[in-house]
Amino acid sequence: MLNPTNTNLHTYKSMQSEFADLEFLINSIPALVAYIDCNMVLQFCNRPFKSWFGINGNPAGQKFQLIAGSHIFDQVQRHLGKILVGDCAHFEILVNTQNGIQYLEATLSPDFDQFRQVKGFLFHCLDITEKSKTERALKDYFENASICLHWVNGDGIIVWANLAELNLLGYTEDEYIGRHISEFHVNKSAIEDIMWRLTNKQRIENYDTQLICKDGSIKHVTLNSSALWEGEKFVHTRCFTIDVTEQKLAAKKIKESEERFRQMANLVPLVIWSTDENGDCNFLSSKWEHLTGKSVEEGLKALWFSFIHPDDRGKVVTSWMSSFRANQPFEGKFRFLNASGDYIVAYANASPIYDNGKKVLGYIGILQDISAEEQIKYSLEKMVLDRTEDVRKRNLDLKQAKTVLKKKNEELEKINNQLSSFAHIASHDLQEPLRKIQLNLGKLFAMDGEKISEEGKDLYRRIIDSTSRMRNLIQDLLTYARSNDYEGKLEEVDLNSILKETINTLDTKIAEKNATIRSEKLPIVTVVPFQFHQLFLNLLSNALKFAKPDKQPYIQVSCELVEGSGQKKGLGDTYKSYYHISVSDNGIGFSPELSEKIFEMFYRLHGRAKYEGTGLGLAICKKIVENHQGTIFADSREHEGSVFHIYLPNKK
Ligand code: ADP
Repeated sequence: MLNPTNTNLHTYKSMQSEFADLEFLINSIPALVAYIDCNMVLQFCNRPFKSWFGINGNPAGQKFQLIAGSHIFDQVQRHLGKILVGDCAHFEILVNTQNGIQYLEATLSPDFDQFRQVKGFLFHCLDITEKSKTERALKDYFENASICLHWVNGDGIIVWANLAELNLLGYTEDEYIGRHISEFHVNKSAIEDIMWRLTNKQRIENYDTQLICKDGSIKHVTLNSSALWEGEKFVHTRCFTIDVTEQKLAAKKIKESEERFRQMANLVPLVIWSTDENGDCNFLSSKWEHLTGKSVEEGLKALWFSFIHPDDRGKVVTSWMSSFRANQPFEGKFRFLNASGDYIVAYANASPIYDNGKKVLGYIGILQDISAEEQIKYSLEKMVLDRTEDVRKRNLDLKQAKTVLKKKNEELEKINNQLSSFAHIASHDLQEPLRKIQLNLGKLFAMDGEKISEEGKDLYRRIIDSTSRMRNLIQDLLTYARSNDYEGKLEEVDLNSILKETINTLDTKIAEKNATIRSEKLPIVTVVPFQFHQLFLNLLSNALKFAKPDKQPYIQVSCELVEGSGQKKGLGDTYKSYYHISVSDNGIGFSPELSEKIFEMFYRLHGRAKYEGTGLGLAICKKIVENHQGTIFADSREHEGSVFHIYLPNKK
């Protein structure tokens, strides 16, 4: 080396100081800087390089591979080809150290000699571990975020989409990225609108649109997007896609069900109403308009209240508030102004509506015009009251009547008893003088019969007739009086034998009239035998007596067992069953309206000259049957024969 002259010395010093400045500068760069020659020998490195690689002293002249380690050396060597042809190389070096993976951003710049031959290269490296980790974390965050993301460039081409977006729509990266975004929109004009707004530096917020999935289904989404600009250059959009399909479908369903509810509510012939959780009316069915003649809006919130009669408002408010506060069902009846301006009687009731968590969301109820029902109820109540009063009065009358009847019955019984004993005594007392009259008349006729004139003889015959009629009458009266005689004389008898005896008694008359008597099988009953003999005797005698003159008498005695209830003549159901014995003939009959009269004492339809009799026969029959808790009545028409019905209780 030459000794420096003063000038040179000055220059040398100045150069030395410049060099020191340069070295200071290079050492101060927050980057790893080294110069490596063509033989891969390190010629120079700065302080950050040494400290990063942990080098003490000056490593100049050492092989780069030794200093950097073969791991870094291999990664550098892969880019040397570029350096040898004079290009710069930029790449990332990944180093596995004790502190974990480190990232270096390397730049290799070739150094040329005077012949533009590469004689070495500058190794420049930045430790980007922190930056890279953050970037990777961010990238991972967006790639795997649960929110859907995609970027679209200025031409509308999708340049990036995260997994969530691909999963949402069902596409692979290849099927989605690189395609025009409009291919995936149902509404193509929407994408034009979005792109126009973004390229005009507007933001897209909560933009509702629909995307087409790979399987053809449609997703309802909300887009939020803004564009990334580099200066005035539009880089790409940053679009967040939120899947709102479920909400949309749920909202649609709610809307549909609300619509159905509305339609149903409008069909119901009552006013349907609902309130919110504050008790404000928020729904009225269309029947409100029908009832009040006012629009639905005029009844919402608390407006419905003014339709209530002023005098009823207090009680409605109290009842509504106490139900509402206690979340209890509400019920009320009040006067309500209708479309014609009249107050009708209205009935309202409502129940709380709960959400799943049992929180009260409001009330739902009905309002109904019950004026007609109230009127009916009022009339019914009045009718019931009137009826009750009526019944009370009737009961009173009945009670009085019963007392009177009881008294009359007692009197009647007394009279009957007196009459019976009178009839009995009188009959007995009358029989004797009558018998004497007949006896003495007979004697008189035997003694002086020849001396008596024809006129006297006629008179004699008439006296005899009258006395025998009187005798019959006395006999019948006695029988009638005796027919009360019942207790203690009951016997179980075969009615067939009683009937047979009776027919025998009437032998002569039957033969005289050439009559036929037929009988069905009769039952064995507990009765007073001689009274039943009398009963058959009277009925059969009448059937023979009132036979048609030109017709052979035919008499039929029938019997059947019948149910107690529902039978004719008010038999009732005292006994389970009755023997219905009927005696029918083909005689002259009688007019139906006389069918009750003929059972009265002394009642006769015909003159004595034509049909003899006392008018007591059927009265005796009636008494006998009633004595045995039965009933007797007759069916007949003039000239068409007669039927006498006897109903006797079957006491077995
Ligand atoms: P009488 O002694 O007149 O027969 P009854 O009491 O037996 O009295 O009968 C009353 C009346 O009923 C009879 O006079 C007769 O007119 C009518 N009568 C009774 N039985 C018959 C019958 N089988 N056919 C037509 N009329 C009858």
